[in-house]
Amino acid sequence: MSDPNISSLPQKNVATLAYKIGNSLYLNITNRCSNTCIFCPKFDKYKLHGNDLFLKAEPSFEEVMIAVAYPKGISEIVFCGFGESLIRLSLVVRIAQELKRRYSYPIRINTDGQANLVHGRNIIPELVGLVDSISVSLNAPDAATYMRFCNTPFGRDGFKGVCEFIVEAKKHIPHVIASAVNLPGVDIDACRALAISLGVPLRVRELRGG
Ligand code: SF4
Repeated sequence: MSDPNISSLPQKNVATLAYKIGNSLYLNITNRCSNTCIFCPKFDKYKLHGNDLFLKAEPSFEEVMIAVAYPKGISEIVFCGFGESLIRLSLVVRIAQELKRRYSYPIRINTDGQANLVHGRNIIPELVGLVDSISVSLNAPDAATYMRFCNTPFGRDGFKGVCEFIVEAKKHIPHVIASAVNLPGVDIDACRALAISLGVPLRVRELRGG
């Protein structure tokens, strides 16, 4: 089945908003971020696995749903692009509600874990029942390392906020993991120990590229 509306969007935009890697359908809803990580590929090129993730304008709810269309051959839908999806919290909630209404796919959010600082409140309750899994970029075992690699605008509170977000998410979301990019100068064993102390496993990621 094809969505008649899909022909009304240029193909490039469709690929940019929703792109497939393996069995996952990724949604790219913003290029804005609460961090400026020194290792982020978006500051070099907005390409990931051949997908152009540069957004000329942030998509509306309707544009994202048109890009999702009728997904086939996937096992999950993931909010993850070259930006922090939870900056657009109300859009994430609205899209997740619609995806849950239409499909039975699990929904994951990959996040930098600073949404509670960005919004000035605990936003986890707004995701309960909609989001099945959250992967939080921890990326450091301490505040000094986090500030050096991720350039958080929240200073030392940024790292504390990420740790608190993991603990809070773990209470309410079925699956929560932390992740760290394997970079020179980042003690992965210490990151793993911290993640475990926060109650979640650590996934180590290699630096991604286009
Ligand atoms: S949080 Fe992710 S998208 Fe944002 S700057 Fe860091 S690596 Fe890039």
